[in-house]
Amino acid sequence: EKLFSGFSKTRNNLSVIDELLLYWNLSDTDRVLDELEEALLVSDFGPKITMKIVENLREDILSGKLKSGNEIKEALKKNVLDLLTKKGSKTELQLGFRKPAVIMIVGVNGGGKTTSLGKLAYRLKNGGAKILFAAGDTFRAAASDQLEIWAERTGCEIVVAESQKAKASSVLSQAVKRGKELGFDVVLCDTSGRLHTNYSLMEELISCKKAVAKVVAGAPNEILLVLDGTTGLNMLPQAREFNEVVGVTGLILTKLDGSARGGCVVSVVDELGIPVKFVGVGEGVEDLQPFDAEAFVNAIFM
Ligand code: GDP
Repeated sequence: EKLFSGFSKTRNNLSVIDELLLYWNLSDTDRVLDELEEALLVSDFGPKITMKIVENLREDILSGKLKSGNEIKEALKKNVLDLLTKKGSKTELQLGFRKPAVIMIVGVNGGGKTTSLGKLAYRLKNGGAKILFAAGDTFRAAASDQLEIWAERTGCEIVVAESQKAKASSVLSQAVKRGKELGFDVVLCDTSGRLHTNYSLMEELISCKKAVAKVVAGAPNEILLVLDGTTGLNMLPQAREFNEVVGVTGLILTKLDGSARGGCVVSVVDELGIPVKFVGVGEGVEDLQPFDAEAFVNAIFM
């Protein structure tokens, strides 16, 4: 429901084609596809994906495969669903078999990293896992306080920097060591929010990644990039940059309960081939859901 209401604006933009499709006949094809192109662009699908979808539909209409407005609408939804669910991409967390599994949460400031980490901890803890937090955002003074609040809220332990000068990589390394010694199942690592163009902060992420790998082979098991669902096409260059620097394994799309601009997600998944693993639909502990591509498609198309 939250996803559905969060996408009301996108759904509204896209609904302009519904009436055209209701009375569609073959001679209307160009007009309908022009309108569809416009609606997809306004909904942040981006030019590349928009052209891909429109041209796929045109081909299927002209070859006689799609014979009614209804069939065109269903094919449109199927196209988007296929783009979102790349073959072989795993939407479940891949935590490996070594303990502790390490998950790094990365992204720009304000996107919802800390909140998503807290919500993810709640989910995993409910599944029976013993969770340790690592306060790797040593850049922003208030960040570890915020994470401590989430640790308390979810009943998880936390490792924070011993001094203000501590490096993020040493906090993470210390937390993973502690996790290993004390039999934690998962260490959830917060990292400092950065502009995707900030070179030194990107370097820090690389050191963090190396530091945890030294403690547990194969770590980090997941590097989840948090993307603010209200930022539209801006999320594409961000995702590209983070992926190039650290190799993102999954996406968490946040704020889909607000005025989410969903189309761009399709571009990110298509271009980078990284699956969306979770969506954030609010600020409460229970407001993180596993990504359901079908629910997503049904929320953006009526
Ligand atoms: P960080 O700087 O990336 O760690 O971002 P925060 O976790 O501090 O989140 C920034 C703001 O976004 C906070 O006010 C959060 O409560 C809010 N927020 C995070 N995720 C969601 C979400 O899924 N829905 C809504 N409505 N707000 C969110």
